[in-house]
Amino acid sequence: MKTSPPEAQTAPARKCHCVINHPVTDEERAELDEAFGCARAVGDSLGLLLLVARLAGPCPARV
Ligand SMILES: [Zn+2]
Repeated sequence: MKTSPPEAQTAPARKCHCVINHPVTDEERAELDEAFGCARAVGDSLGLLLLVARLAGPCPARV
C-alpha cells in the first residue's frame, strides 16, 4: 500500500532568535504564562528558572 507523506507543516516564524527564546507576541506570552503555571504546579524549580530567563535580558525583537 502506497502512502503519501504528511503535509509539510511549517511553524510560524518567530521574531526572536536568541538562544533562550523571548516571548514577543501576546500568543507567546500566553504560552509562557501557561508554562509557568505547569512548572509551579509540579514544583519544577529548574523549569521556573529557565522560564524566568525567557523574560530577562535584552532582545533585538523587543523594540
Ligand atoms: Zn530574544
